[in-house]
Amino acid sequence: MRRCPDCAVGVEGEWTRCPLCAATLEGNASPSPYPAVPLRFRRRRVLRVLTLTSLAVISLSFLAQLLFRPEEQGLGALRSVWLGVVATWLVVLVAVSKRRNLAKFIVYLVALAGGVCVYWDYLTGWDAWSLTFVVPILCAASLIGLVITVRAVRMQVGDYIVYLGLTVLLGLTPIVFLALGWVGTVIPSAICGGLSVLSIVLLLTVRGGAVRQELATRLHL
Ligand SMILES: [Zn+2]
Repeated sequence: MRRCPDCAVGVEGEWTRCPLCAATLEGNASPSPYPAVPLRFRRRRVLRVLTLTSLAVISLSFLAQLLFRPEEQGLGALRSVWLGVVATWLVVLVAVSKRRNLAKFIVYLVALAGGVCVYWDYLTGWDAWSLTFVVPILCAASLIGLVITVRAVRMQVGDYIVYLGLTVLLGLTPIVFLALGWVGTVIPSAICGGLSVLSIVLLLTVRGGAVRQELATRLHL
């Protein structure tokens, strides 16, 4: 067992510094008395599914470019899909590493990446590609990442309700731009809106019962 020379206490486990005074411990480490806490989500399976899906999506985007030989705008749309794949990965990786700030991270990700693209679009003579393609794809990618996360990670009902709200927000954002008439093509925003509805249904089927119970308790129904 390691010992702290300042506090004159023995410290079990792999500590290198005293947990009380942060002084360097002396002696040999002893095994930790606490059991290792197993992770409560299927990290490897999630990452495998995500890898296969990403490869499939990227291959399909290349195939589509080969088959349809799209014009400038269609090419931009296909390449925005890669941004979506990156965004989905970021969301899931953040969820797997530090789960607490996921909702905040998604809002920052969409706002920042979307904002940069809107500015870029503005600088290159406003073609509306940022609002037509990038924003719906970012929102859709976050939705997919969120659904993967919620299905794989057991979380507090409170967090879960936050994610449900975020799902609605992510679905509504492109729809608002669509309603304002700021987008070039309807399809990406409409797909994102549909995906949001689908995500809400999926989330409710995963933990709907727990949410109803929690709401009933909080609202004294
Ligand atoms: Zn100490």
